[in-house]
Amino acid sequence: MENGMNTWGRVMPVVVAALTVAGLLAGLRFCAPREEGRERVGEKERVETEGVREIGRSVGGRAIGVTTHGQGSRVVLMMASIHGSEGAGTPLLERLREHLEANPALLEGVTLHLLPVANPDGLATGRRFNRRGVDLNRNFPADNREERVRFGAGALSEPESRALAAFILERRPELIVTIHQPLACIDWDGPPETERLARVLAAGSGLAVKKLGARPGSLGAWFGETLGGAVLTMELPARPPAGVEALWGEYGRGLVALLRGR
Ligand SMILES: [Zn+2]
Repeated sequence: MENGMNTWGRVMPVVVAALTVAGLLAGLRFCAPREEGRERVGEKERVETEGVREIGRSVGGRAIGVTTHGQGSRVVLMMASIHGSEGAGTPLLERLREHLEANPALLEGVTLHLLPVANPDGLATGRRFNRRGVDLNRNFPADNREERVRFGAGALSEPESRALAAFILERRPELIVTIHQPLACIDWDGPPETERLARVLAAGSGLAVKKLGARPGSLGAWFGETLGGAVLTMELPARPPAGVEALWGEYGRGLVALLRGR
């Protein structure tokens, strides 16, 4: 048993070292045009859609983009396709973005970060791994990380996981939702309150809550178990409904319910 200070004290030097490298690599590319989305959406709709912010680049040089919606104090990150062969979450989050632009009142009290493609090289080729063959969801500096070739040369050895970790530590979301396939359930990591949020997502998406246990070096293990944050892993089925509207009809309600937290 350790207190939070000890955990942070141990994790931060690793993360800071990795992020320094990531920052040098990312350099000036950080500055995305922030006004573009605002102009497109319009003032009267009250939605604060910043332009896509590039938080980093994949091994293959593809941008990893985040859009931010709302200005509330409750910070939520929803992300998809950290496993490139599990891509159904990407159109689901893009459809959520459209829904929020049309219904900005849903964002009351919330700042939502949407990161629809965490592993752009993997998604482009339909592969689970990044371009170097590393499973990004085993590459985080969690207490339970294991040293294996597929898990990367070290924690945060990959530019994609470094970009994600840097963004998460900068924004410190109180909830992260990460969308995978094909286990058709809602898993959770973090403090006991997280289970209640898992049930909110489950009720709105027709998926059962199932505690799978934190995989070594996964985002859930790192942010949920090592740092004590709340992570929901939304596992869609292997073959979710075809077409973005059918996908949205099946799972959109659960994501919207999470914005309200109930
Ligand atoms: Zn997965």
